[in-house]
Amino acid sequence: MLKRCDVIVVGAGPAGSTAARYAAEEGTAVLLIDKRKEIGVPVCCGEFNPTPAVLAEALPNAPGIDELFPVDPGVVQRAIRGFVVTSPKGREYEFDLDGCTVNRDAFDRHLADAAVRAGAVLSSDTKFLGREGRRVATSLGEVEADVVVAADGPLSSVCRSAGMEHSAVLAPAATCRVDGEFGDRLRLFFGNRIAPGGYAWVFPKRGCANVGLGVQRPAPPVPVLLKSFLSQRGFAAGDIQAGFVPVSGPIPETVRGNVLAVGDAAGHVVASNGGGIATAMICGRIAGLAVADHLLRGEPLRAYEREWRSAMGRELLAAARTKRIADRILGSDLLLERMMGLLGSRGIRNVIVFGGRLRRPCRA
Ligand SMILES: Cc1cc2nc3c(=O)[nH]c(=O)nc-3n(C[C@H](O)[C@H](O)[C@H](O)COP(=O)(O)OP(=O)(O)OC[C@H]3O[C@@H](n4cnc5c(N)ncnc54)[C@H](O)[C@@H]3O)c2cc1C
Repeated sequence: MLKRCDVIVVGAGPAGSTAARYAAEEGTAVLLIDKRKEIGVPVCCGEFNPTPAVLAEALPNAPGIDELFPVDPGVVQRAIRGFVVTSPKGREYEFDLDGCTVNRDAFDRHLADAAVRAGAVLSSDTKFLGREGRRVATSLGEVEADVVVAADGPLSSVCRSAGMEHSAVLAPAATCRVDGEFGDRLRLFFGNRIAPGGYAWVFPKRGCANVGLGVQRPAPPVPVLLKSFLSQRGFAAGDIQAGFVPVSGPIPETVRGNVLAVGDAAGHVVASNGGGIATAMICGRIAGLAVADHLLRGEPLRAYEREWRSAMGRELLAAARTKRIADRILGSDLLLERMMGLLGSRGIRNVIVFGGRLRRPCRA
């Protein structure tokens, strides 16, 4: 492993691999480390990505969407045409929305490979242990780096080492694979008996589905809730993976000293639906370019904060605000049933996909 580099990126998920790729493409010496032995494994994700057109509608000021997407055809599992959302009493609301499900392990590997092709050095099975200024301690020894990118997910220890906050609200979520044919619509199931304060999902893949749920209150634990949802629907339980989704919006400060945070570590998630793959990649690109501008052209690292906020700060804050309002309603099945009836399919689409932000009527 390198002992000296311009930038060390901690975490080879969508945020870190994208940041590493762009910083390396610009000509900086990048070391990308991940504690996982195998990049992307185990998978803990719903594995859904919207199309570039949907992303551009949701994040109209975000740069690089056409460059970063569409997803590589080799990792696509199934084209998705829309959603069916089921209320606590079983009423169904349908709307169109284009996207695809992927194999998330292959997806992450593909992004890490792109970083390596751009010139980054990838070191898996390498854990970040701590840092002091430019000296970074890892499980494979010490590395000296001018800039440290915190792309190590929602519980970021790199952010902690710099005295930066991580997301204030982390929603527990669990997922597994179920075999079978499930059509081409994502299904969401609401109701406190299924997923208190959250929802369960069935996302079709090729010959199987990604089935999971996310909640607000972690009692009982999410794997227990997921097993109960699986048995209600007659699905055999696969290997369950659990994690957290940051749902309180971006952290207040994403640059401190020579450390910058990106992706889940920075709260770059659309809180109203828990989606964070695309936002992690868009902000990862901005981070990689900002790091290169800093190292090669003397621009302040703080420009990163300004750039990602102008790309999607407004939308991420709006989605977090909508999520806080929704949390009050999600606690009561009665209120939720009424609210879903009032909103109808178009309103539900707007709240879930666009954080309740779209003013004009949308395609339903
Ligand atoms: C159950 C679940 C379902 C989800 N479903 C979807 C979905 O369908 N669509 C969507 O868009 N988003 C979804 N999300 C959110 C999405 O997975 C994240 O927003 C996205 O992975 C963020 O990417 P990231 O690169 O910031 O972090 P991560 O993908 O979490 O990557 C962080 C990386 O850092 C590494 N790491 C952590 N600590 C260290 C350390 N100390 N040293 C070295 N490496 C370290 C980890 O091993 C990991 O590889 C879901 C999340 C969960 C939990």
